[in-house]
Amino acid sequence: MTEPTVFSKIIDGEIPAEKLYEDDDCICIKDIAPKAPTHVLLIPKKPIPRLVDATPEDQALLGKLMVTAGDIARELGVDDAFRLVINNGAGAGQTVFHLHLHILGNKKYTEDDG
Ligand code: 5GP
Repeated sequence: MTEPTVFSKIIDGEIPAEKLYEDDDCICIKDIAPKAPTHVLLIPKKPIPRLVDATPEDQALLGKLMVTAGDIARELGVDDAFRLVINNGAGAGQTVFHLHLHILGNKKYTEDDG
């Protein structure tokens, strides 16, 4: 059994977080160290470590996360300009090994931004 991640502990209510949305499948919280004026995390309750660990069984869940991300962006008023980021693997900057989508908005992005 692997150690529960910080996100599993937030989902289980063991550690606090600023929760913006929750349903049976996912939770949305404010990032503790925001990299943009709007920076929230959409996290499936199922602890899939990385995107590449998702299986065909997770297809509906991944689709739901996309639609929910759009709804949250609209709710936060950033639906005209936001980024959806998934870091997959330590080499890509992933630090919490429980799949999550970063929703980043209210920042001026240019074509040169990575
Ligand atoms: P990653 O680097 O894995 O793609 O993103 C992990 C994100 O989780 C980071 O942006 C980091 O600031 C955020 N984070 C890490 N620990 C906590 C926490 O305890 N609470 C909240 N709200 N965010 C966290």
